[in-house]
Amino acid sequence: MLAAEMLAPGGTIGILGGGQLGRMTALAAARLGYRCHVFADEADSPAAQVCSAATVAEFTNREALERFAAGVDIATFEFENIPAESVRFVSAYTPVLPRPEILEIAQDRLREKDFLRSIDVETAAYREVSDPAALRRGMSDFGCPAVLKTVRLGYDGKGQVTLTPEINAEEAWQRMGAEIGILESFIRFSCEISVITARGADGACAVYPPVENQHINHVLNTTIAPARISNETKMRAKAIARHIAERLDLVGLLAVEMFVTEGGDLLVNEIAPRPHNSGHWTIDACITSQFEQFVRAVCGLPLGSVEHHSDAVMKNLLGSDVEKWRDALNDPLAKVHLYGKTEIQPGRKMGHVTRLLPHR
Ligand code: AMP
Repeated sequence: MLAAEMLAPGGTIGILGGGQLGRMTALAAARLGYRCHVFADEADSPAAQVCSAATVAEFTNREALERFAAGVDIATFEFENIPAESVRFVSAYTPVLPRPEILEIAQDRLREKDFLRSIDVETAAYREVSDPAALRRGMSDFGCPAVLKTVRLGYDGKGQVTLTPEINAEEAWQRMGAEIGILESFIRFSCEISVITARGADGACAVYPPVENQHINHVLNTTIAPARISNETKMRAKAIARHIAERLDLVGLLAVEMFVTEGGDLLVNEIAPRPHNSGHWTIDACITSQFEQFVRAVCGLPLGSVEHHSDAVMKNLLGSDVEKWRDALNDPLAKVHLYGKTEIQPGRKMGHVTRLLPHR
């Protein structure tokens, strides 16, 4: 889609994936006068609850994908693990933004790191490992601790094993549970940050302030916005995110997760070409939220201001934490977001609370 081919308000945006990211995108789209049609593999998904249309089918169901594509003006995706072939299939019928090739890079940790290296972005040292013997050799080269991850379908620490001297290669391989893995050097970081950038079809970028992310059991627990790092580090982090978005020829939104090493270097851990949990604070603290920005970018509208009028601390409501929603509502500086999920499971992202610290 060229910049001239704007999708005006009134059009229908197709969203592949029915989670909370799709839900918050649809809410932002509705404010701008768009309709959303969600494609999800379960009924009553968080996104379907707020969309004007929903298709419920397996992501591999071509007949359902074709019907979905026929009913939308453009399509996008809200999580990485949608089969890339399905996204490519939809793109034969309707424009898909970001480009499906970008999803293919982000879905595969090896391709992702190879791409980052090819554009001179620093990452942890890494190596492909395809059996326990290769892992054993890698462990002796990389030293302990090191990190073993699945190449595909891993997120929120799933399929990830921290290698310590007590664990042998066979045991680690079993625990990782995939046929191919990526071995990474263990990074001693002073903090983890992420940067979200939007890029429009005309190449304009809008980069949000870097934020600091605290994980518990590999799952994002708290985002502190902005990150408590020097202005110089912030500038470098923003330049890296912009560079990646440009080299991907992205139209849409990109989240870039980075480690700030103890020596002050920035190493990119992961990229996600979609709205990101660490950007939820922007709904309440920025002039334009990441979700509105995403809609603007994929519809070919001008990007909005990324200025923030408040600092913020965002906490995820994981599992039974969601039962604290009433306490949060009693805090005058807190904004409560619940995702409409009926079943509470330990660690499941049920909602989030953003506490605002308005600038005077
Ligand atoms: P990931 O699944 O790659 O997003 O990793 C989840 C979390 O595990 C990260 O946010 C880090 O806290 C931790 N982690 C991942 N890779 C490394 C690494 N190479 N060194 C140290 N910690 C890591």
